[in-house]
Amino acid sequence: MSKPKILILGGGYGGIMSAVRLQKELGSDEAEVTIVNKHNYHYQTTWLHENAAGTLHHDKTRIMIDNIIDMNKVNFVQDTVVEIKKDEKRVILENQELTYDYLVIALGSDPETFGIQGLKENAFSIRSINSVRKIREHIDYSFARYNNEGHKDELITIVVGGAGFTGIEFVGELADRVPELCREYDIPREKVRIVNIEAAPTVLPGFDEELVEYAINNLERRGIEFLVNTPIKECNTDGVVLANGEEIKANTIVWTGGVRGNHLVEEAGFETMRGRVKVDKDLRMPGFDYIFVAGDCALIIDEEANRPYPPTAQIAIQQAYTIGRNIKALMNGGKLEEFKPDIKGTVASLGKGEAIGKVGNKKLFGATASAMKKVIDNRYLFLLGGVPMVIKKGKLKLF
Ligand code: FAD
Ligand code: NAD
Repeated sequence: MSKPKILILGGGYGGIMSAVRLQKELGSDEAEVTIVNKHNYHYQTTWLHENAAGTLHHDKTRIMIDNIIDMNKVNFVQDTVVEIKKDEKRVILENQELTYDYLVIALGSDPETFGIQGLKENAFSIRSINSVRKIREHIDYSFARYNNEGHKDELITIVVGGAGFTGIEFVGELADRVPELCREYDIPREKVRIVNIEAAPTVLPGFDEELVEYAINNLERRGIEFLVNTPIKECNTDGVVLANGEEIKANTIVWTGGVRGNHLVEEAGFETMRGRVKVDKDLRMPGFDYIFVAGDCALIIDEEANRPYPPTAQIAIQQAYTIGRNIKALMNGGKLEEFKPDIKGTVASLGKGEAIGKVGNKKLFGATASAMKKVIDNRYLFLLGGVPMVIKKGKLKLF
C-alpha cells in the first residue's frame, strides 16, 4: 500500500516547523512528507525590518532549507503555489501539480491595504527577503541622489504608514541607520525626516501605556516624528495624502498598516475573515478533516478578550507542534488535541540595544527588553536546529 502523502505549503514559521515536527513524529515509512516553498531558504520574518533598514544583512535572516530539514525524510519542492484545488485534493504550482492526503496551509500573509488608493503601486512593504532588499537599496539610492539632484527634501523623507509593531520596529532601526547614511552621503542629519503616521489615537494601539510612552520618548529623541489620529488616505508617486487633506512629499513610503491572510486561501473558496480561516479547535479547516492551517492564514479567537489573537510567529510555531501531533493522531486513528496558545509575552525592538516588552506581568524596558528579544530569537533557532543553528545564525551578543 502506498504511504499517505502530507503536503505542507509555505516554509515560514508555521510551515518549516510543521516539517521539522513531522520529521520527528513520523518514521519515513509512515508517510511521504513534502514541503513547498517559493525560495530554497526559510527566512525569519521577525527580522525583516532590520534588513529593510540596512542594520542587518539579509543573509543572517535566511537559512537554507536543506540546513533545517533532513532531505532523506522530507521532500523539498522549490516552487510557487498558484492554486489550491480543495475538492480535488490537488495543488497547482507554477511548474507542476501535487496531490495530497493531508494538507498544511502555512502561506503567511499579504499586506492589508484597505483599498487605499495608490498604496499597492507606490508603497513598499516588509514581507520577504526580496521586498526588504528593495527597500534598503531604494533608501540608499535616494540618499545618494540628494546631493546630485538639487537637494530635494523628498529624497531624504521616509514615510512609514502604520505604527503597529512592524512600523515601530522599523523606525527604531531607521533611527540607527540614518545617521550612518548621513555620514556616508554628506547629508546633515537634521535635514532627514522619518515620519511614522498612525490612524489610531496612539502608536501601538492597545499595548501597555507606560511602554508605549517609553517607546515614543525614545524614538522621538532619536529623530522620529509621529503623527497620530491621522489616517493615510492616498499614496501617489510624490508621497502620501492624509485624511485631513495635508500632503507629505516623500520618495520612500513603507506601508506597515497591517496584514491579511495569503490571497490563495480566499481564492481557493475557503471561508475567510481578512483572508484568514477561523480554524476548528484542533487547527483543521472547518468542513475539511484532512486540511490544517497554521500561522497568519489561521484565525483563532482569544476567548477571554473575545477577539482574534494577533497573528504572530509565537503562535505559528506553537501551532506547528499541535499540527505535527494531530496529523500523526489522524493517521493512526487517535484523538486530536485542541490548540491552546501559550502567550509568553510581547517584546518589540526599538533599534540597537533598545526595546520594550511585557513578559507575563513584568514590563521590560531598554537593554533588558532588548536582551530578552535576543533570547526569544535564539530560542526559536534552537527549536529549529539545536545549538549548531544558534551558533550559526543566532544573535549571540545579548548586550
Ligand atoms: P511566514 O513566516 O510569513 O511564512 C510564509 C512562507 O510562505 C514564506 O516562506 C513565503 O516565502 C512562503 N510563501 C508565500 N506565498 C507562497 C507561494 N505562493 N508559494 C510558495 N511559498 C509561498 N511575531 C512574533 O511573534 N514576534 C515578533 O517579534 C515578530 N516580529 C515581526 C517583525 C516583522 C517586521 C514582521 C513583518 C512580523 C513580525 N511578527 C512577529 C509576525 C510574524 O512574523 C508572523 O506572524 C509569522 O511570520 C507568521 O508565520 P507564517 O508561517 O504564517 O508566515
Ligand atoms: P498591525 O495591524 O498590528 O498594525 C498596523 C497599524 O497600522 C495599526 O496601528 C493601524 O491603526 C495602522 N493603520 C491602519 N490603517 C492606517 C492608515 N490608513 N493610516 C495610518 N495608519 C493606519 O500590523 P503590523 O504592525 O504589521 O503587525 C502584524 C502582526 O505581526 C501583528 O499581529 C503584530 O502583533 C505582529 N508583530 C509582532 C511584533 C513583535 O511581537 N515584536 C513585531 C511586528 C509584528
